[in-house]
Amino acid sequence: SNKWKILVTEKVGEAGLDIFRNAPDAELDIKIGLTEEELTKIMPNYDGVLTRSGTTMDEKKIEAGRKLKVIGRAGVGVDNIDLAAASRRGIIVINAPSGNTLAAAELTMANMLAVIRRVPQACASLHGGKWERNKFLGRQLSNRRLLIIGLGRIGSEISKRAHAFDMEVIAYDPYIPQKKADSLHVELVDDLEGAISLADVVTIHTPLTEETTNMIDEETLRAFKQGAYLINCARGGIVEEAAVARAVRDGRLAGFATDVYASEPLSHDHPFLAEDIADRIVITPHIGANTVEAQSEVSRIAAQNMLLVLRG
Ligand code: NAD
Repeated sequence: SNKWKILVTEKVGEAGLDIFRNAPDAELDIKIGLTEEELTKIMPNYDGVLTRSGTTMDEKKIEAGRKLKVIGRAGVGVDNIDLAAASRRGIIVINAPSGNTLAAAELTMANMLAVIRRVPQACASLHGGKWERNKFLGRQLSNRRLLIIGLGRIGSEISKRAHAFDMEVIAYDPYIPQKKADSLHVELVDDLEGAISLADVVTIHTPLTEETTNMIDEETLRAFKQGAYLINCARGGIVEEAAVARAVRDGRLAGFATDVYASEPLSHDHPFLAEDIADRIVITPHIGANTVEAQSEVSRIAAQNMLLVLRG
């Protein structure tokens, strides 16, 4: 037929599948759990492939896809796709970076509240048969100063939610225009350590780049107010993990919450799993994008953009 043939290799949100099902010029094949050989073998049949993070679109498969014009990733990270091989063949790779913004922003707020009120620890204590009302003395977000490092999609959503909690919001982001900060009622501070020294709570929302790798290290940690809180729901590797664990241990940080790690999953001897700091750490296993709504959004956006590419 003269329809675009689309292969979906992983379980993605129904919204994206419906886009293909409802398109008069597309024909959908869903084949989940194929082996590498099986996938390579059927690759020549398809104009487009939609994946998540579990399908390795390596050079071999990309070369096998003689008709292939577009690879869609229902999500953000494209480390499972050989971008150089795709580019050599003129295949367009698209992802859906805005689809999980709200999910990540909401998890950040959840982790911020969890760490400042010690919700997971209080919950574990009660499960342990104890009733320790006085042990769990927290702090309030209200009237405290929040520093957002990286005022992009997620950072901007955090600024709105933090304002709703009556926080004063400042940001460090050398790459956004002043008027964006103004429109969010956020004060931009132009040096990182100066900004950190003003903050009661610091939350990170930058990508992982050469510049942001170990951005929060031994030295920047010394700039924190005694008893400040640090939240990372961006990428592992932006904070130097051993140094952060030490800052929690010596009390410089009153608490630390993170969803992401330099190497995932965690090794059993990871510094964040140390028992002596478990009281003041909140760790979640990279669940920032895991909501029904976000999975649906990323599949919808990826599918829509794949059709735009195919239709030229
Ligand atoms: P974005 O590109 O919209 O925003 C990133 C912001 O960081 C930009 O405004 C950019 O100017 C700024 N920035 C870049 N380098 C900087 C630096 N050196 N110092 C300060 N600011 C800098 O990205 P986003 O969609 O908001 O995502 C932010 C982060 O959250 C990314 O690392 C992304 O991978 C991560 N994320 C995590 C989850 C999760 O599951 N935990 C889910 C979604 C996104």
